[in-house]
Amino acid sequence: MSKVKACLVCNKTSEEIPVTKFNYQDSKFYICPQHIPVLIHKPQELIGLLDGADKLKGV
Ligand SMILES: [Zn+2]
Repeated sequence: MSKVKACLVCNKTSEEIPVTKFNYQDSKFYICPQHIPVLIHKPQELIGLLDGADKLKGV
C-alpha cells in the first residue's frame, strides 16, 4: 500500500477529506483546507509536526 495522504495536522486522509500536497525543502506533506490557514498564519503551531516549521514566518 502506498503512503497515506493525510493532513499533517489532523491526520484526516484523502479518503475522508480533500488534501493538498505541499513541497517543502526536500520533502512533501499534505494538509487539508481546514488547516491551510494554520500553515499561512500560525506556522509555529506546526513545529514538531513539520520539519523546518520553526523557519516559517506567519503572515
Ligand atoms: Zn487537517
